[in-house]
Amino acid sequence: MDSSRPMCLLMAGSPGSGKGTHSRRLANDLGISHIATGDLLREQVAADTPLGREAKVYMDRGDYVPDKVMVDMIRHRLSEPDAEKGFILDGYPRTQTQATELDKMLADLGQQIDAVIILEVPVDEIVERLSARRTCPACQRAYHMRDDPPADDERCDDDGAPLERRTDDEPDTVRHRLKVYADRTAGVIEHYDVDSVVRRVNGEASVDEVAKRIDEALGL
Ligand SMILES: [Zn+2]
Repeated sequence: MDSSRPMCLLMAGSPGSGKGTHSRRLANDLGISHIATGDLLREQVAADTPLGREAKVYMDRGDYVPDKVMVDMIRHRLSEPDAEKGFILDGYPRTQTQATELDKMLADLGQQIDAVIILEVPVDEIVERLSARRTCPACQRAYHMRDDPPADDERCDDDGAPLERRTDDEPDTVRHRLKVYADRTAGVIEHYDVDSVVRRVNGEASVDEVAKRIDEALGL
C-alpha cells in the first residue's frame, strides 16, 4: 500500500457479519476515522438537519435512504478535517451509483480506495447469530444467547427485565434481509473487483481470529 497518502478502506459485509466491530477495531489500530453510515444517519436525524429530516421519511417507512441523500451525507462527512488522516467507511457504498460518486469525491480530494474488505459469513451462521440476539427493553443492553447470555434465563443481568428479540432478527426476516443485501451489493463488489482492491476475508471465527485475518489480508 502507498503510505505517502492517507489510507482509505471500505468494509463490506451483510447484517450480522461483524463489520461494525471490525471497522471500529481497525480504525483504532490504524489511527484513522471510522465512518459508519448508520451512525451518520442517526446523528443527522437527532440534530434535525434538512438532510436528517429528508432521510427520516424513508427510515420511518423502513425503506432504504435514496442514493442522493446518502451521497450528500458522505460528501459532507469526508470534507471534515479528520477525514484527511484516512478513514474506513462502514456500510457504504451500498449501490453502484454510490460507488461511482464516491470515486469522484475521492478523486477531488486526491485520495483513492486502498482496499475493500468483504467479510464473508455463511447464511446459516448469520441467521444463528442474529436470531440469538436479545435486547433489554429497559436499559438497551445487548445479549447473545449463545456467546454472551444473561446469568438468569432470558432476563437482564442489570434490572431483571425480560429480554426481547428485534422483529427483524427473526430467522425468516434475516433471510430476507440477506437476500436484499446480496442483490444490492453484487454490483458494488464488481465495481471494485476491476481495480483488484477487493480482499475477501472468512468471517466465520472468533473476533480475535477474524481481526488477524483482516490484518493479514491488508498486509499489516
Ligand atoms: Zn436491562
